[in-house]
Amino acid sequence: MKYDAIIMGAGHNGLIAASYLAKAGKNVLMLEAADEIGGATASVKAFKEYEARLSRYSYLVALLPDQIVKDLGINFETLSREISSFTPYVKDGKDYGLHISRIWDKETEESFKELTGSDDEGKAWQEFYSEVEKVAQKMAPTFLEPLRTRSEMKALIGQDKTWDYLIEKPMSEVIKTKFTNDIVRGVVLTDALIGTFVSADSIQSNICFLYHLMGNGTGEWKVPRGGMGALVKELERVATSLGVHIKTDSEVNQIVSTADGVSVQTSAGQRYEAEYLLSNAAPAHLDRILGKKSKDSLPGSQLKINMLLRKLPRLKSGADPKKAFAGTFHINESYEELERAYVTSKNGQIPEHAPSEMYCHTLTDPTILSEELSEKGFHTLTLFGLHTPAELFEKDNAEAKKIAQQRCLDALNTYLLDPIESVLAVNSDDSLCIEVKSPLDLEKDVRLPSGNIFHQDLNFPFKEEGDTQVWGVETDDPRIFICGAGAQRGGGVSGIPGHNAAMAVLAKG
Ligand SMILES: Cc1cc2nc3c(=O)[nH]c(=O)nc-3n(C[C@H](O)[C@H](O)[C@H](O)COP(=O)(O)OP(=O)(O)OC[C@H]3O[C@@H](n4cnc5c(N)ncnc54)[C@H](O)[C@@H]3O)c2cc1C
Repeated sequence: MKYDAIIMGAGHNGLIAASYLAKAGKNVLMLEAADEIGGATASVKAFKEYEARLSRYSYLVALLPDQIVKDLGINFETLSREISSFTPYVKDGKDYGLHISRIWDKETEESFKELTGSDDEGKAWQEFYSEVEKVAQKMAPTFLEPLRTRSEMKALIGQDKTWDYLIEKPMSEVIKTKFTNDIVRGVVLTDALIGTFVSADSIQSNICFLYHLMGNGTGEWKVPRGGMGALVKELERVATSLGVHIKTDSEVNQIVSTADGVSVQTSAGQRYEAEYLLSNAAPAHLDRILGKKSKDSLPGSQLKINMLLRKLPRLKSGADPKKAFAGTFHINESYEELERAYVTSKNGQIPEHAPSEMYCHTLTDPTILSEELSEKGFHTLTLFGLHTPAELFEKDNAEAKKIAQQRCLDALNTYLLDPIESVLAVNSDDSLCIEVKSPLDLEKDVRLPSGNIFHQDLNFPFKEEGDTQVWGVETDDPRIFICGAGAQRGGGVSGIPGHNAAMAVLAKG
């Protein structure tokens, strides 16, 4: 039997591509290498003795366009966090925290003033993010349209000064021009570095920043109700109800493309034929199977630590933990600390003052815990460490993870009255409920090349003049498309490349 399309990989993007194609009447087969679907969007019971389903890899959603949810009838809810971030700091030997509400309020204003001594930095903050939001409102809707060129996008945005500092000049320039405080500068910079191993002086940081601020025209990062697994479950329901066939334990290891179609073979020796192949796997994996050389990409550079707590720890600053941990909790992420950590890692060392950020999803969505754990006051914590590239783990993954974990926890403990270890849930063998994933683990577990969470380097969401791509999903083989994070405008839990690859195939008739 010949399918209209075969999708290699069943991550969320593959499921979205499959659903759009099936909705348009196409016959679609998905082949997933792992024994479960979902890729980097998965919820798991990470600690067997406890009924807590953690988003093991990705955890927040901003980039998934409402349009896709509506088009496919995806029954999936994301929840706002009232508090955007909390950054603990020490001034004159005393502990404080920079509190930033999602919507600017008196508490945020006072907190900026307490840190900086005046209203200027708070005003600069509001002005900067309102300019960025105006760009987001114009740029985000284009993500589901054919690619515009750089000049077309610039004309559409129509804010030349903002364009200049967001697109043309490295993030370091705008951050240093607009803000004076090292902690405030750092909070801005983190969005330019998540999963991206560069200095603020690299344009790659601008691209990362754009993707973190553009989602749905607001850039608001929300908590998926029920965890990332709820999204995958729902996408599976939608895809299969539209007639998509999904086979797990089916790693594609051979692809032959001719004028008549594409033929793929799995490692178990099964062969399938289709008109088109869509790769949800990273471009480096597709290239390897096709015997082609891949383009260079940055390594993954994040440490993911998942924890289950018996209770929230108290803070030295006296801030209410239910508020401090409700948003993004920044640790050692001042501008100077981030830049220093980058240089240290670049020189092959794990940073002593490890920068990271943390999230407590159960404060927004307790449904990922059983009622019993919820009632007892249990919580989950997700820590995302920055500037810990794959190379640091290559010699001895287990030992490097131990060091990196300890440095992250020590950094966190600087601000806690109750050391984090004292509030972690404990297994019956006395081990603590904490799991650590290095970039190498991500490569092994979910096939992210060198643990790169975006599959490969992110690109600006427009094309350069003369580029013939239409959707940013095309390859040099007219029968093969990229439908995963590695496409242009890919990266993150967005479904955008899935949608766009489906549109590219449907345009072929
Ligand atoms: C630790 C971590 C935290 C993150 N946090 C966030 C976040 O909070 N918010 C956010 O938006 N994004 C986040 N991301 C990024 C986001 O998860 C990914 O960019 C996104 O999940 C990619 O989705 P995808 O469907 O394109 O690919 P994937 O989820 O990577 O799925 C690809 C699938 O292809 C399969 N595959 C690969 N090769 C083959 C083959 N040869 N044959 C068959 N199948 C194959 C894989 O097994 C996998 O299931 C995070 C990622 C990580 C790792």
